[in-house]
Amino acid sequence: MQEDSPVQNENAPDTAQTEQPQRAGRRNRLIVLSAAALVALGLGGVAVATTGTERPAPAAVSLDAQSRADAASRADRSARESSAPTVPSASPTPSPSAASASPTATKAATAKAATAKATPKPKTTTKPTPAWVNPMPGAAVTSCYGQRWGTLHAGIDLALPSGTPIRAAAAGTVTQAGDASDGYGNSVFIDHGNGYLTHYAHQSRIAVTVGQKVKAGQVIGYEGATGDATGPHLHFEVHQGMWNQVDPAPFMRARGVDLGC
Ligand SMILES: [Zn+2]
Repeated sequence: MQEDSPVQNENAPDTAQTEQPQRAGRRNRLIVLSAAALVALGLGGVAVATTGTERPAPAAVSLDAQSRADAASRADRSARESSAPTVPSASPTPSPSAASASPTATKAATAKAATAKATPKPKTTTKPTPAWVNPMPGAAVTSCYGQRWGTLHAGIDLALPSGTPIRAAAAGTVTQAGDASDGYGNSVFIDHGNGYLTHYAHQSRIAVTVGQKVKAGQVIGYEGATGDATGPHLHFEVHQGMWNQVDPAPFMRARGVDLGC
């Protein structure tokens, strides 16, 4: 050790007040001693820094680090957990980043929570089925309600490949289900209890029975070409009272369903 020699010289008791180099040597020694004390106190990192430079600057750094650490500890716990892992109190450097990162992280977390709160309501909750639905969504309209070839076409024809599910336009009770040999083929009537019935004709297969209660959108059968049909389609009718057919297009449109006619 190079510092040994001035320290040795200093051992002479009455040279203390004389010369500057010796003072400097003593100061160094004091610093080394205090550094050792600090090490004993467990402030290892700071003490090492003290021995390196003669200045008390490290103390300021440690104070700063301490205040930052305090600030960090006051910050929201969840925000700190989400920030980069910090080595607690071992080195003063990571804590500033933790202290400055925490408020930002908290803000971000709050913003996320706000968006998370706002969005799920319409998305994740199973949206209630509307009272009236399209009996065969996505189908092409091949014929509307109205005069056709000299007679009234009393419903709307909706076409998709044979076997496509047919859905109840609204909740109700099945009042007829089967082939009545009247040209409609396999057909189903649903009474909606409000004076209106819906009628689904030409089905390849019926999936409900008379008396069964159905919900809006429930599959009641499958598209086909039974009865008087030139090809697979759903012939859909709305009856205002049994066999009093009305135009399904405005009726359904008034209930939020556009059938395209
Ligand atoms: Zn038809």
